[in-house]
Amino acid sequence: MKRAIISDVHGNIEALRVVLADIERQRVDSIFCLGDVVGYGPNPCECVMAVRDACEVVLLGNHDQGALFDPDGFNVGAERAIRWTRAQLEAHDRLPRNSADQLTDFLGELPRTHADGDLLFVHGSARRPLDEYVFPEDIYNPLKMEHIFELIGRYCFQGHTHIPGVFTMAPEFISPNLPQVGAAHAQAGSAGAEWRVQLPSTKAMINVGSVGQPRDGDPRACYAILEDGEAVRFRRVEYPCEITSRKIHAIADLDNYLGDRLLQGR
Ligand code: ZN
Repeated sequence: MKRAIISDVHGNIEALRVVLADIERQRVDSIFCLGDVVGYGPNPCECVMAVRDACEVVLLGNHDQGALFDPDGFNVGAERAIRWTRAQLEAHDRLPRNSADQLTDFLGELPRTHADGDLLFVHGSARRPLDEYVFPEDIYNPLKMEHIFELIGRYCFQGHTHIPGVFTMAPEFISPNLPQVGAAHAQAGSAGAEWRVQLPSTKAMINVGSVGQPRDGDPRACYAILEDGEAVRFRRVEYPCEITSRKIHAIADLDNYLGDRLLQGR
């Protein structure tokens, strides 16, 4: 059983297309999406349609919710992007030919969690599925980690921070940028790069990283493949981020910074 898990597409259709093509070559059984399909990026409608068509499970992210309801807790730039995103979705839904194909309805019906045996899938954390961040530095906050681990059967897959890696109960954060740590080893290929982690026999939280706005210093799109519930392969795929960046620069309601950061993966 092979499952691809994507998250935080953020309206970046160039990254999403390349990732979906890479997933197709991996011959997975299903694709799950952990939310934030929209927000920040220039192609929210295209991304919602592509995710809807490709994914078996799609969860609601805080940006998806912000685009549907009153945005709350976002900075000024993010909120402006969310309002612009909402206008795009509503304009799509108003077209007569799209009357039976409402993107806002689709987003509005997304669940916040998905459970499958002892696997849990959320956008943020098991404690606050929509909007709690679990950052690598939270390993120095054992109380927070303990509380969240109590809510997890075995493995919890999450996104939201845009920083891929595995949290163990130690607590420890195993990062793809530190391939010498733990049981991990790195494998680079011409079509992409891959980092495989054997999951611990105890509980773990796995952050699958971000397709459309990586923030770990690597601008390549990131996603994960769960194999037989035992190992996770983090994959990095190059995409034409300068195209997405130029599109963002051309839209007044999207800060130029949102385009610039894609080139750096920050
Ligand atoms: Zn996000």
